[in-house]
Amino acid sequence: MPVEQHYYRIGRAKVTRIEELMLSNFTPAALFPDWNPLFLAAIPDLSRSGTMDESEEHVLLSVHSWLIEEPGRTILIDTGVGNGKHRPYAPFFDQLNNPFIERLEAAGFAPADINYVLLTHLHVDHVGWNTHLEGDRWVPTFPNARYIFSRVEHAYFTDPQNHTERNRTSFQVQKDSVDPIIEAGLADLIEIDGSEAIEGFAFYPTPGHSVGHASIGFRSGNELAFFAGDVLHWPVEVYQPEWNTVFDAFPEEARKSRAWALNFAASNQATVFTSHFPASSAGDIFREGSGFGWRFR
Ligand SMILES: [Zn+2]
Repeated sequence: MPVEQHYYRIGRAKVTRIEELMLSNFTPAALFPDWNPLFLAAIPDLSRSGTMDESEEHVLLSVHSWLIEEPGRTILIDTGVGNGKHRPYAPFFDQLNNPFIERLEAAGFAPADINYVLLTHLHVDHVGWNTHLEGDRWVPTFPNARYIFSRVEHAYFTDPQNHTERNRTSFQVQKDSVDPIIEAGLADLIEIDGSEAIEGFAFYPTPGHSVGHASIGFRSGNELAFFAGDVLHWPVEVYQPEWNTVFDAFPEEARKSRAWALNFAASNQATVFTSHFPASSAGDIFREGSGFGWRFR
């Protein structure tokens, strides 16, 4: 019997987080070059909501997938880091061994049950479970799924002229976690233009964190879910949208995309499902004063 897990309802769909790991390696100042320590004192609710570790010195960042169940189809958004992957330049992600598939099964689904895998972008912590090791080969973990992601993003991370120090992990990631999906004929490489990619799901262009980054909107009934991807990493960015993280590759575009995403989520009263917020990782973005606020759900 599957264990009953906490979930969200979006129209007739059910949304559940499938956890992979929690990071507590970064101080806020290391993550946000513009960090100002007075900030947490100014927003006391945020500092009490489980967003930092017990020492209050490190931010907590979750890595997970979102599982969406609808009558007749099952969708996974982003696929974490994966097990057993060689990540010499990203030590927090090197050779992991987490019970991610067991957690998916505890939610009631085997890998073969997944119909679609939608990827916000092609970084190390978003595509890892695309594949798993069989013998000495990386093969698709979700053999019956269509995997949908940005054509531009994949082209960028496979073009030798972009093989810089910043991108070296992303180049490895394409080889073991993205290219095997394309070779197996399971990939749909798309233009990120806000149009519907599959029924109910639209990929909105939010470049900046990465070149072809997308945030994914999902409508069911009268309700909207917004899977932000890495346009946001930690709740502070809702209050300080000018603050990029060290992982945002194109700073000016990242700021523009964050501003767009905050406005879109608040204007449409979307339930926001983040990629890395700790605690429940989900909540609401609302207007507050001249800016925005965040409430966990
Ligand atoms: Zn990420």
